[in-house]
Amino acid sequence: MTHVVVLGSANMDLVVRVARAPRHGETVTGREFRTAPGGKGANQAIAAARCGATVSMIGAVGDDGFGTRLRSALEHSGVDTDLLRTVEGRSGTAHIVVDDDGGNAIVVIPGANGTVDHLVPGDEGLIATADVLLLQLEIPLAAVVAGARAARAHGVRTVLTPSPARPLPPELLGAVDLLVANESEALALTGRADPVDAAHDLLADVPEVVVTLGSAGSFHLRRDAEPLAVAAPRVTAVDTTGAGDTFVGALAVALAEGRPVQDALRWAAAAAALCVQREGASASMPYRSEIDTRFT
Ligand code: ATP
Repeated sequence: MTHVVVLGSANMDLVVRVARAPRHGETVTGREFRTAPGGKGANQAIAAARCGATVSMIGAVGDDGFGTRLRSALEHSGVDTDLLRTVEGRSGTAHIVVDDDGGNAIVVIPGANGTVDHLVPGDEGLIATADVLLLQLEIPLAAVVAGARAARAHGVRTVLTPSPARPLPPELLGAVDLLVANESEALALTGRADPVDAAHDLLADVPEVVVTLGSAGSFHLRRDAEPLAVAAPRVTAVDTTGAGDTFVGALAVALAEGRPVQDALRWAAAAAALCVQREGASASMPYRSEIDTRFT
């Protein structure tokens, strides 16, 4: 079975639904408030587990009620949490505004995720057993770099989601095999408004790049291969929260299973399309059987 290790964040999502998101300085009345487990690390872990992989999560939650819920949500989806620390203080939270177009705007408060600034005994040993290590930027960069280097040292493929976007040091880029960025991350990393130009720039630093384009799908560039574009299935989006993480989790599993890149991208697009048709982040992530049905 494919083994995925995720080194990253777990947040409680605090979600409000509004007809239209407030502009700067404006107050609007929302319709609904709910809490749901999230965080890019936990989301990608849950996505990959539902895709049929064995998944382990390295990270931290607080010793609050959110922390208990986050751990049990991961375990409920089959994610191993033995190396998910419980630390003193608050769990990470993400404050999410979802509008009627299905778009979202997010503020993240790291909380316990901020304590994950280095690898602790056991982390490297776990990473060494993985087929693929998934990384994002919602924990301190020092740990992301340490995780990527540990993976590289053990010949484990690394997939980085550069979110929230920030400058990436060469020691991280040098240990990344595949970078999966959305359009705004690609722009932030390169200053290039055209995602194809941005991806070509990124290819100078990492051997393989995927840029996701929301409902317009995604494309893939590799130094030694022709560019590949993959359309997203046409669906009605209800809530796009978690689409990117579903895409990455599914893509990583498919690639680790040895599927050809185009197949893997199409399978990931099918998974993400299922996700956007339902409310929530991790709650809306599809299981392997649903993706296979959508994929054919
Ligand atoms: P999010 O932050 O909403 O989780 P993201 O900004 O990281 O997502 P996107 O590029 O918006 O990433 O979406 C990732 C993938 O999800 C897309 O490549 C596409 O396959 C799928 N997707 C997103 N939105 C839609 C949509 N409206 N219809 C179909 N597929 C979608």
